[in-house]
Amino acid sequence: TYVVTDNCIMCKYTDCVEVCPVDCFYEGENTLVIHPDECIDCGVCEPECPANAISPDTEPKMETWVEFNRKYSELW
Ligand code: SF4
Repeated sequence: TYVVTDNCIMCKYTDCVEVCPVDCFYEGENTLVIHPDECIDCGVCEPECPANAISPDTEPKMETWVEFNRKYSELW
């Protein structure tokens, strides 16, 4: 899965949401998150993010961000 990380906080762009083929972004007041079970790992959103806030969970120390994305995508 891909995950949204802290650079997204207060970012007002939603370029990633527009390109996601499966519509798995969820929007809160101050940030977006990706539902980890709905993301198909296509990678299309990563280069579209102007804040460089999206990374694959295969990068180091992503466990906390996966949990953050899961928690809030289920709440929103
Ligand atoms: Fe959507 Fe693809 Fe990004 Fe996953 S990697 S959030 S499916 S655009």
